Amino acid sequence: MSDRDPPSADLLRWDREHVWHAFTQMQEYEPLLVETGRGAWLVDTAGNRYLDGSASMWCNVHGHRHPRLDAALRGQLDKVAHTTNLGLSNPTTVALARRLVEVAPPGLEKVFFTGDGSSAIEAALKMAFQYWLQTGPPQPRRTRFIAIGEAYHGDTLGAIGVGGVDRFTAMFAPLTFEAIRIPSPGGPCPHSGRPAPTLAEALAALDRTLAEHGGTVAAVIMEPLVQAAGGILVHPPGFLRGVRDLTARHDVLLILDEVATGFGRTGTMFACEREGVAPDILCLAKGLTAGYLPMAATLATERIWDAFLGAHADRRTFFHGHTYGGNPLAAAVALESLAIFHDERVLESLPPKIARLEMHAARLGRLDHVGDVRQCGLVAGIDLVADKAVRRAYPWQEQRGTRACLAARRHGAILRQLGDTVVLMPPLCITLDEIDLLAAAAQAGILAATG
Ligand code: PMP
Repeated sequence: MSDRDPPSADLLRWDREHVWHAFTQMQEYEPLLVETGRGAWLVDTAGNRYLDGSASMWCNVHGHRHPRLDAALRGQLDKVAHTTNLGLSNPTTVALARRLVEVAPPGLEKVFFTGDGSSAIEAALKMAFQYWLQTGPPQPRRTRFIAIGEAYHGDTLGAIGVGGVDRFTAMFAPLTFEAIRIPSPGGPCPHSGRPAPTLAEALAALDRTLAEHGGTVAAVIMEPLVQAAGGILVHPPGFLRGVRDLTARHDVLLILDEVATGFGRTGTMFACEREGVAPDILCLAKGLTAGYLPMAATLATERIWDAFLGAHADRRTFFHGHTYGGNPLAAAVALESLAIFHDERVLESLPPKIARLEMHAARLGRLDHVGDVRQCGLVAGIDLVADKAVRRAYPWQEQRGTRACLAARRHGAILRQLGDTVVLMPPLCITLDEIDLLAAAAQAGILAATG
């Protein structure tokens, strides 16, 4: 802190008085001001150290204050901080687009930059809709989207139209459109407790839905392999491949939302690689800038791009854009992050970390009040339950998940819950010893909240 900075007590009070925190009941909010960070660690204004067990909301990749990322950001500042992407460009953003095309699944050669995950989704939905209006022959009846139950694609109105985490979005239903939903094969229905459909049942449901609504559907949208905010719902192997095959057979676009799963989270650069799937449209954000700056990208195929080409008077332009789309500072960090993936062999470093998390997840799964544990790559969800034998949930008002995560802070880890699911989603740079500490803090938090 500099001499001119206000004392910490004032900041804590001002935080309560002035800052409206996301997904937070401000009447109950307990301030915690993180002042510095390094690697997988965060330090608050009182000097307490915490492992960043939620990767600063699922986006930090190489750790805080990575010297190369810091240098890339400073280097870009010596050139220009921002220029618009509307009708002009800058070298750093162009280089990033090229690099993204190189690392993305095949066929995704066109990069539309936005600002965060939700805006990448909004661009994808509008792009898919407009594509059908302008393809030959035009198919203007394709105005609907098929989404997976308990999907989460962001908080803007289009994104909640295709989202299905009702506790977040149900009240806003009158403001948006309603997607056609198929049940998630990733976990029991959180409302009814009804078991998840099997792989075959889920794919059969999609096949039926496409047969029934196909001519009115613009795209199927899904999070590949694991639905994150829905509760770390892990799909059975083959689901993504099956969805891709069905969308191809019914000639419907596939939008993959890799906002949470992209950039190594599931063990490969993109989750869809695991099943050899390339979508028509791919949404990236969060880890794109390694958790440094807001930036997102919606990648599309040449087939889609071509439908938007024409003379100005044809009105085929994509009339969509955000002020900071393609921001050079963010692009500089994103480029450097991809270079770090390569130079530090980040993906190769993941298998032992994933195995260590698996070992701890299995152990935590044996606790008296843990009903289920699901893991995909370097993310795990741990369900807290009142009765393990029948997996009976706690009354939601008791906020056991929140209490477990708050208690874990006292044991040196910042965690974030999804309802009564405690989530472990550390930066990819976390070490094996740090994973042990993270699991120990999670266990202490869970025991405190369920004891
Ligand atoms: N899609 C997925 C899968 C997400 O997990 C999130 C955010 N958690 C979003 C979209 C929205 O991203 P943002 O918060 O950056 O708008």
